[in-house]
Amino acid sequence: MRLSCLLTLSLCHLATLPIPLSAADAPGWKAGVAVRVITPSEPMWMAGYAGRKGPASTKEHDLTVKALALQDPTGAKSVILTSDLVGVPRALTEDIAAEVKKKTGLPRERLMITVSHTHCGPVIEDNLQDMYAIPEAEMKKVAPYTRKLRAWMVEAIVEALGKLAPASLDVGMGTARFAVNRRKPTPKGVLNEANPDGPVDHRVPILRVRNAAGKVVALVFGYACHNTTMQYERWSGDYAGFAMLDLEARHKGAVAMFWSGCAGDINPLPRSKIELCKKYGKELAGAVNDALGAKMTPIEGDLVAKYRLVAIPLGTLPTKEAITADLKSGSHAVRKRAEKLKKTLDDKGKLDDHYRHYPIQVWQLGDQVTWVALGGEVVVDYSLRLQKELPKGRALWITAYANDVMAYIPSKRVLAEGGYEGDSSQIYYGQPTKWAPGIEETIIDGVKATLKEATRK
Ligand SMILES: [Zn+2]
Repeated sequence: MRLSCLLTLSLCHLATLPIPLSAADAPGWKAGVAVRVITPSEPMWMAGYAGRKGPASTKEHDLTVKALALQDPTGAKSVILTSDLVGVPRALTEDIAAEVKKKTGLPRERLMITVSHTHCGPVIEDNLQDMYAIPEAEMKKVAPYTRKLRAWMVEAIVEALGKLAPASLDVGMGTARFAVNRRKPTPKGVLNEANPDGPVDHRVPILRVRNAAGKVVALVFGYACHNTTMQYERWSGDYAGFAMLDLEARHKGAVAMFWSGCAGDINPLPRSKIELCKKYGKELAGAVNDALGAKMTPIEGDLVAKYRLVAIPLGTLPTKEAITADLKSGSHAVRKRAEKLKKTLDDKGKLDDHYRHYPIQVWQLGDQVTWVALGGEVVVDYSLRLQKELPKGRALWITAYANDVMAYIPSKRVLAEGGYEGDSSQIYYGQPTKWAPGIEETIIDGVKATLKEATRK
């Protein structure tokens, strides 16, 4: 009896003893990386701004999609895809996820599709298409390019999964300070100008992946700032593109991957000069590098993934009369939206008062990181609120513009204040009206419920 108790005690004791392991020795993880260049081979219209003068035909550097596949110690596989694009529509990401599932069995919740939100990439189908008055000949190039892009994305994901090899993962956090809140309150309303006192999130979450020999194979990092230093007609990954190139030059053979945080109301300021774009890239790469040289935390445990769609509420819908009036608007975007809404009214008899497919994804990356990925151009209030309200104990990373970019996602505050992010941007995204104030609680509650599901007892 005594022996059995002792044995039980000592076994329990052993099980809870920390086993000293360096990151490179951590057992069980595997990783694989793949890259595709997506720079258009012919002149094409650029995304992001309505007032383009013509297609882009030259490049600052190549645009890419990059896939990092991870296999945790239980054998479960997951993939994050990053891309030099302004946004991805649900139609494209669901199509890619279905194709990848067919080819590899990867479940939807284990695929995170993100963009850098560069405004120096090509227009793709179903994303912000109401924004641009594109000449007919240029518009004809959009669908074939989107088909090629879809194939490149699938190829990169499948290739990364096929290259899984023993790896170690560790995480860290850097800081970069060039992101400035861009909603300036004035007596005339909120203007799109620097608001140095407005909320920001200067954190730079970092995931480092090393192979069995200890060589860095991937650096995944994020930052909450619009990737919009430049407004020219030239292909470029903007500041994030320069940051990735800088890191890849410092870590030969490594693939650097950028995702955007809750940057809906944050800009790199000042901007519009290539020198500033390069400077911000260097600053961001420096923030990553400083963190790599300081304390990094090994990932221990597995990767639990959950994914759900929630319905987010719209405000008062436009009447048939208002839509009919908008059909004659002098604004291209207002007209295009009215045409779309009229078609829905004709086909279905009414407009939906919700967006039914708002994606919320949660990855528990070992015991070290809770990684939340949200759709749309999420304003920074969400990140700050979730940092306050979610359980402490793990680092919290919040990726926005993930899996579907259907609109800006204002907080209650931003919605009440009005301005571009809470109001007029809905026109360009083809949404019928503003969001209802319940949007913030719906999304926060959705994140909490998804996190609960992803947290094992
Ligand atoms: Zn934006």
